[in-house]
Formats: sequence, C-alpha cells, structure tokens
Amino acid sequence: MLRAEAVVDLAAIRGNVATLKAATTAQVLAVVKADGYGHGLLPSARAALAGGATWLGTAIIDEALALRAAGVDAPILSWLWTPADADKVQDAVAQGIDISVSSRWQLDVACRASASVDRPARIHLKIDTGLSRNGCTVADWPELVAAAAKEVGAIEVVGAWSHFAYADEPGHPTIARQIEAFHAALDVADRAGVHPPLRHLANSAATLTRPEAHFDLVRPGIAIYGLSPVPQQGDFGLIPAMTLRSGLASVKRVPAGEGVSYGHNYTTRAETTLALVPLGYADGIPRRATNVGPIAINGTRFTISGRVCMDQFVVDVGDLPVTVDDTAVLFGSGRDGEPRAQDWADAVGTIHYEIVTRVGPRVPRVYVG
Ligand SMILES: *Cc1c(COP(=O)(O)O)cnc(C)c1O
Repeated sequence: MLRAEAVVDLAAIRGNVATLKAATTAQVLAVVKADGYGHGLLPSARAALAGGATWLGTAIIDEALALRAAGVDAPILSWLWTPADADKVQDAVAQGIDISVSSRWQLDVACRASASVDRPARIHLKIDTGLSRNGCTVADWPELVAAAAKEVGAIEVVGAWSHFAYADEPGHPTIARQIEAFHAALDVADRAGVHPPLRHLANSAATLTRPEAHFDLVRPGIAIYGLSPVPQQGDFGLIPAMTLRSGLASVKRVPAGEGVSYGHNYTTRAETTLALVPLGYADGIPRRATNVGPIAINGTRFTISGRVCMDQFVVDVGDLPVTVDDTAVLFGSGRDGEPRAQDWADAVGTIHYEIVTRVGPRVPRVYVG
C-alpha cells in the first residue's frame, strides 16, 4: 500500500446505484459533483452508469465538460453558474450538456449560446419551492416560463426541477409543502404551454424515503457513495465506497508525562508507544479531530492523541505491538470494525458529506472492484 490512499470500491458504487434503482420507477441521475464527492469524477461516473444510472449531474459546468472530454456521452445536467460562465454555457450547449435556468438573465445567456453554436440549449427550469437557495421564486416563475415558452426553437425545456430543504428529516412538514409548491409550479408551466418531460425533486434522502417525490427522475448523490442520507434510519443496504488508510511514518516508545503534538493538548499517562499517521488537515482531516478522531490500527480502535497538524497526527497505541509496517484505517465500510465516515462526522460535529469530499488531492485514489 501507498504512504496514504483513499481506496474506492467501484463495485460498491455500482451496487449502491442498483439499490437506489430498485427503490424507484424513475430514472436515476447520479450526482458526481465535487469530484464524485471526493471519490473521483470519472471512475464514479462510469461506475454509476454501469450500475444503472442513465443521467449524471454536476454542480459546475467544468465538471460536466470534463466528463464529455473523457468520452462520457450520457445526458448530463449542470446547475450552478454565474454570468462569468457564459462561454462555458456555450461549450455546454455545443456538447449537448443540459443546463439549469433559474432566472431571466440565465435564460438570455442560454438563448445567446444557442444562437452562437446553432443548436438548441437543453434547459431545466428551476423553481425555488422553499429552500431559498438557487431557483426562480414562485412570484417570478410565471414570467420565466412565459419567456421560455416564447424561445421554443432556440431552447428545449427538457426539465423542471427543485430541491428540498429538509429531506434528511423524513416527515418534516416542509417536505409536503415543497412537493405541493412543485406541483403548483408545474401547473403554471403547463398553462403557459411548457411541458417539461423530466420533472425532478428528490435527492438521496427523498429517493429512499419519499416515493411521491420521485416524478420522472431522482438525483441521488451521497447514497451512491454508500453513505446513508438519513443515518438515524439505518444504512438502507448501502455500502460505503471509500476507505481512507495510511502507513505509519514513525513508531516509538516514550515515557509517561510527555506532551504530544503542537500545544501539548495530550500528555502520555504511562510509558507508551506513539504512532505517527502521515495525514493532516491539508489532506482533509479536520483539525477539530484533535483528541477525538477515531482510527483503527491492526484492527484495534484508538483516538487521535493531541492536535491534528497540517500533514500528520499522532496516536497513542499503548502497549500494542505496532510497527511501521502496520496500517492505519481512518474510515471505511465498517465491515471489519474500522470507523466509518459517519463516526468521524459525529466526532467532529459535521456530516459525512464533508468528511469524504474534503479528502485532498495529495491522497491518491486507488480503485478496486
Ligand atoms: C448535491 C445535490 C444533490 C444530491 O444530494 P444528496 O443529498 O447528496 O443526495 C441533488 N440535487 C442537487 C441540486 C444538489 O445540489
């Protein structure tokens, strides 16, 4: 094994997509933004398609263009862009990449892109049903759909869509309200003569818990990588795809009373062995994991000892016979008793999304399965 590596199990990604597919009659759009949630854009995209996804989704247009450049010809939707991306919208339209449109200025950019590449822009109109993030407000929606209706020919309205605020809390009252607002927005579009064939609303959590939100397409992200979108309801049969592990850069005996790492936030209680793990906050290990981050060495669970540094941290392994030829597993599927990304999230007060997406570029991704 390498100094440190993120092992990505592509069979797990394929299987997780199959699990999601079995939960719906809608098409599955696999969200591969943020470098496939840290798992690698292309391998994740290919594994998701092999597992039965028929669409791919990215936040920024560069990620979609990278997929096309690598020869991926599946439909792709890209949804987060600014006026500075007008040239990229043009490239996207030229390459048959669908783009999201939330406002009048975005519709104008899409129309101009269509004219310059002489090909209709494929757009998905986004309605804000209550997240107050991206999307057209309910108040402005009639005007946006009316404007889109007038541009038929220059553009093709492929989809209408929205995003939940509280899907990870099944039963939250905003979920039903957002579904209702989405239906109302679709009715407005219908009356304006806009009939998008693909209506979509569900992320991973809604895919697994709210069938009435599936419409024509579901957009799971985190579940594809095997992390439960609703941890309080179990794992839904998903298998975590990433294992973050490393070798040890130093193993040494030290006496009792030694201060460990910057600021001596940890002091050895007795003569003990300190193991040095060559991963730090520059690799995405939260500095907040100081004295609380979980780790397995030779199958035994420990907690980080002292401060997480930029490149490394220390683990007090007591009298366990650890050597530099041993392996430390920070997180994995949990099958062999190692911590999971969820355990890291719990330890540092965040969500597992942040744990896996932050694994940095110094950590090579190694693909198995
Ligand atoms: C990230 C994202 C998703 C996927 O969300 P998960 O919670 O990871 O399933 C779906 N839709 C949009 C708009 C997103 O930004």
